Amino acid sequence: MLNSNLANILRTTKKHLSLLDSLGVKTVKDILLYFPRDYNDASQFTKIIDIRTDQINVIRGQLTNLFNIHTKYGKKITRGLFTDDTGSIEVIWFNQPHLVRMLPRKKDIILSGKVKFALGKISLSNPSYEVVKDYEEQIHTGRIVPVYHETEGLSSKWLREKLKPLVDEWISLFEEYLPEEVIKEHGLIDYQTAIKNVHFPENDALLLKARDRLAFDELFLLQLKVLQKKWHWRSEAEPFSKKIEMKNDVLKDCLKSLEFELTNAQKRVLKEIFEDLQQPFPMSRLLQGDVGSGKTIVAALAALNVIKNSYQVTVMAPTEILAKQHYQTFIKVLSKYSLNIQFIAGSTTKKQKEEIIRQMKTGTVDMVIGTHALIQEGIGFKNLGLAIIDEQHRFGVKQREILKSYGSPHLLSMTATPIPRTLAITIYGDQDLSIIDEMPKGRQEILTRVVPESKRMEAYHWVEDQVKKGRQTFIICPLIDESDILEVKSVMKEYTFLSEHIFPDLKLGLLHGRLKQEEKDKIMADFKDNKINILVSTSVIEVGIDVPNATIMIIEGSERFGLAQLHQFRGRVGRGEHKSYCFLFTGALSEEGTTRMKSMEKYSSGFKLAEIDLELRGPGEIYGIRQSGIPDLKMASLTDFKTIEKARQSAQKIIDKDPLLKNNSKLAEKIAELTEIYIQD
Ligand code: ADP
Ligand code: MG
Repeated sequence: MLNSNLANILRTTKKHLSLLDSLGVKTVKDILLYFPRDYNDASQFTKIIDIRTDQINVIRGQLTNLFNIHTKYGKKITRGLFTDDTGSIEVIWFNQPHLVRMLPRKKDIILSGKVKFALGKISLSNPSYEVVKDYEEQIHTGRIVPVYHETEGLSSKWLREKLKPLVDEWISLFEEYLPEEVIKEHGLIDYQTAIKNVHFPENDALLLKARDRLAFDELFLLQLKVLQKKWHWRSEAEPFSKKIEMKNDVLKDCLKSLEFELTNAQKRVLKEIFEDLQQPFPMSRLLQGDVGSGKTIVAALAALNVIKNSYQVTVMAPTEILAKQHYQTFIKVLSKYSLNIQFIAGSTTKKQKEEIIRQMKTGTVDMVIGTHALIQEGIGFKNLGLAIIDEQHRFGVKQREILKSYGSPHLLSMTATPIPRTLAITIYGDQDLSIIDEMPKGRQEILTRVVPESKRMEAYHWVEDQVKKGRQTFIICPLIDESDILEVKSVMKEYTFLSEHIFPDLKLGLLHGRLKQEEKDKIMADFKDNKINILVSTSVIEVGIDVPNATIMIIEGSERFGLAQLHQFRGRVGRGEHKSYCFLFTGALSEEGTTRMKSMEKYSSGFKLAEIDLELRGPGEIYGIRQSGIPDLKMASLTDFKTIEKARQSAQKIIDKDPLLKNNSKLAEKIAELTEIYIQD
């Protein structure tokens, strides 16, 4: 059985088993689906003269002079010299003294590892090793050799040796699960051949076909899952009676009262939303638009139309301050319609809350705007027609489910995080997409510059100057991956340093993730009221916060952030009448880092930047390092638009015919194995 525990199948040590376990590899099936991350062409060894510090080097050469040293702290170090026809490099292993006996001298060995600076020298540190034997089978030294993700103590070589017999023995148990028409339509190879060839390719062509097939599978299953979700969203609302009629007169009247005309993009997405609202099933639409592109007015017009159909509307935002901002905007835009609009959040008193909830349940309130308080116990609506979620990626799937439980309202999610289309239809594929890709006229561009360290003081003087003219500044501290305690420490240090040594006469504020929400709100409110000149913050700085008087955004350690996130930070300024600036400080930059920083100077479109980052660094980086939940694709690429489209079309056809996959039970099993995907904080 493919589900057999590896412990019963593999002849190996407990240690190896637990290492596999830590990679999520527990069964025969798991290990056979543990795909190589790369392949080595035997002709592609790195020559010692070409060794690089930023990559794994795979070198073929010979060992001379291998010996053990015992340090006074009881560590055992094995040192030696490794030589190929271009030069020599020192090799160091820690705590593996047996290598001195095990590894042959003057015989070809393949070492693979990173170069480190240690003991004052450059050396190949803890490389994995593989002795080349003349008679050895293809698995190690054949032309295309699989390379697996390695962890300490679990080498590619080990995996190759274990996998070879397992593949031969167990492959026949893998059942084809793709419907035949899908295989035919896209000219895919069968599942068994794909798995076999992805580990031990017979030739280049088959390797490509194997990877194509497995990449398609991943994207196809994801699409099945999101499209099935979409189907559920609609069908579970049946019988559905919340068809919203167009109230064109009211809308026209409201548009006239605005100080501006809608952009073409705003008009287009409004049309998309209104078409949805007239359907016999609830809308589930994601509205994307850069900061300042005018999503709120679009939401307000949709809300007005729904209220004029005698339904209630709710707007949920991730923080109190954002919710408050929306509350004020909606009140202003809709002031002449004498609507009952209420606000509900953590700060609302119990008594007020009870009263508002009573009104929500009796239907006397038209619109409620608030935070998570809207999805707590005891909340209910008489007749909720539309739920709007702002910054939807800050909420999970559960929160949406709760909104759905309020009588399946139409749902409009909004986000200012630009997500390239390929990624959006993969992770948010259960929603329809609307994109505002045009800024209102007359928006100023924010001057963005990468500032060299030598000009740091100049930048600080500039800040001081601007503050004296009444403006305000944000300073964002670098992202620290290891822990947020370290991050908080570092931001506090920076804050103290800046307060004492750089801006002793100015009022500085400090914001970080360890503060309570009320404390954060208080600081943001003080900043908004210009009681704070310079706000020093970690990346927790709220999305969407509107401080028109802030004109300078300084970002430290910029290269550590995703471009979309840098762009978000930048969007905090340039929201008022004053010329605004974004200064990027960086650590040492790789070539890629330089390209990324240059893109910030060059492009003002968040979508463009997100696409660049998706290409350069992959999806995880678009949302910053901490936000995970993006599907962990092994074979497919989220930039592979063609395959994604193919997968979506095929999946759609199947869901149309068989939404519950009753006649496709193997597919149903497969998607049940996928974990829930969504982006979370
Ligand atoms: P976001 O998409 O970031 O939520 P907002 O809806 O808050 O953007 O809009 C930002 C600002 O732009 C608001 O002050 C809003 O009144 C204004 N605005 C919206 N649409 C237009 C437009 N078509 N022309 C001019 N200003 C607009
Ligand atoms: Mg907004």
